[in-house]
Amino acid sequence: MLDVDKVRKDFPILAVEAHPGVPLVYLDSAASSQKPTAVIEAMNAYYRTTNANVHRGIHRLSEDATNAYEGARQRIADFVNAPSAEQVIYTRNATEAFNLVAATWGRANLGPGDEILLTEMEHHANIVPWQMVAQQTGAMVRYIPFTEDGRLDLTDLDNLLTERTKLLSFTAVSNVFGTINPVNQLVRAAHAVGAVVMVDAAQAVPHMAVDVQAWDCDFMAFSGHKMCGPTGIGILYGKRELLEAMPPYMGGGDMIRRVTLEGSTWNDLPWKFEAGTPSIAEGIGLGAAVDYLSHLGMDDIHAHEQHITHYALESLSEIPGLKLWGPPASEKAGVATFTLEKVHPHDIAEILDKEGIAIRAGHHCAMPLHHKLGLSATARASFYLHTTTAEVDKLVASLDKVRQIFRL
Ligand code: PMP
Repeated sequence: MLDVDKVRKDFPILAVEAHPGVPLVYLDSAASSQKPTAVIEAMNAYYRTTNANVHRGIHRLSEDATNAYEGARQRIADFVNAPSAEQVIYTRNATEAFNLVAATWGRANLGPGDEILLTEMEHHANIVPWQMVAQQTGAMVRYIPFTEDGRLDLTDLDNLLTERTKLLSFTAVSNVFGTINPVNQLVRAAHAVGAVVMVDAAQAVPHMAVDVQAWDCDFMAFSGHKMCGPTGIGILYGKRELLEAMPPYMGGGDMIRRVTLEGSTWNDLPWKFEAGTPSIAEGIGLGAAVDYLSHLGMDDIHAHEQHITHYALESLSEIPGLKLWGPPASEKAGVATFTLEKVHPHDIAEILDKEGIAIRAGHHCAMPLHHKLGLSATARASFYLHTTTAEVDKLVASLDKVRQIFRL
């Protein structure tokens, strides 16, 4: 079991006041997580003792920087059980991973008559790059719908997923509903029609043990900043034969083997996809984040979030006029998305902020999802390894204040 009091001491920001005299209650980890001292210190130590460019210099600092940066890649690969570190490409974030696959694999493999299958609950990062490549190639984008309670509606899957489908890309965990989707079932169904599968794991990898080989997905994307790591670093995992066959994404230093005035040849994986000086400190920071999460144990982190989510959904459901969106706690990750009768979610977020509570209000980069619900915005409280039931109690008490202010 997670020792939450101890965990909280690992996060310096949790001791910072939101406003003078008002403690911070951070319930916005799904947007971006806070960073433990171990991550902050790993990046700090890198700049203090090891800073140099990687893969280039024949001097001690450069070698140390390269070892730290590539060592982090290996530990990140192990964290998601990737067969090798060469299949773990550093990107800026999950968004860049989707754009990379759409621009390289997509342009090389899609054409008129081909279909890309997504779901209606996707984050814009897993919609827009495919719409762009569909426009460029003549392929068509289709969507698996979701039900009113925020589950994927798979009743019509046989009609949506056909031999015309070249790619299925879907989120393992919805950033709005929190729904944990049936990854294995969808991967198997897509492979049965010969489609390639990309999984959006931006809300999964931070919160549960993820094993890419057990999922058997072809590509997977996630972001460092949602899993206790820094911004500016994300991961694209891919199956080796696909990555090898793909053309590079950006051109420049590091991604080449040989350049002549007439043309160039490409470096080996993973560097073929990593042009220019990379985010070195950020890669090292993400390595420290996976060490931190592994040390605590992803199963214990998940169990803690399940406990908090059950508690939160039960408490929130007792507030008159409050509607919770998404499936029951047992089917979702640590997210409580809600609306309050007659109160705009931005007003809720503003009033909660005065109480020191940070939540997110808006469309959460999922406009099609909100459009289908007939909403322009929702309020979302999201939980992580440091969230306590006392913080949930404060959220509930503060929502009562919102109701008083609006005389509900
Ligand atoms: N997918 C999901 C499900 C997300 O929640 C997010 C971040 N909100 C992303 C993709 C994009 O992540 P990033 O902005 O770090 O690229």
